[in-house]
Amino acid sequence: MEEFLRKELVKCMKYLHTKGLISGIGGNASVRLSENEVLITPSGLLKAELHPSDIVKIDMNGNVLSGFLKPSREGKLHIAIYRARPDVSAIIHAHNPFTVGITLAGKKIEPVNYEAWTMFKDVPILEFKLPGSEDLANLVAQNIKSNSAVILQNHGVVTVGKTLMEALYIAETLEEVSTMIFVASCLGGAKLIPREYMKD
Ligand SMILES: [Zn+2]
Repeated sequence: MEEFLRKELVKCMKYLHTKGLISGIGGNASVRLSENEVLITPSGLLKAELHPSDIVKIDMNGNVLSGFLKPSREGKLHIAIYRARPDVSAIIHAHNPFTVGITLAGKKIEPVNYEAWTMFKDVPILEFKLPGSEDLANLVAQNIKSNSAVILQNHGVVTVGKTLMEALYIAETLEEVSTMIFVASCLGGAKLIPREYMKD
């Protein structure tokens, strides 16, 4: 299982980079391995060129259990989310340019397609806190309680799921919807899904 999850993390980072959702060394991801063990991407390396052995194993206090590299500087954020959300087993932090760009302009990410409507009806936009800080970790953990995604103002997005692929799908859909909204805004504004279909 551990080997499979290490490979999934490597695959996920490569995919995020290919899709332009992270820069060379930006972004991070983790999976919960057991009650007290988390596999997380390392800090400082090119995320598209990671090897399964580069993934670091930490405990729920952030101590390194195995691995020769430094864990992501957002390790605190990942641990705070796992503590707040026992149902979550995977976390992605990416720098979605369209999602962040739209919120920088003070606009909301409306769920303009069906996937977005079912996954994240109202994505919270969290005030800026320093990357890697305790404040950021606490703010995200408090606000992701009933959401599958949050947007970090002037920074990026955090998505969660039962699996890494679920968190990845949410991060990508968020960017897809943001791109649609951007295109629509250049041409006069986005239409929403008809109201009769937007019921729970
Ligand atoms: Zn970041």
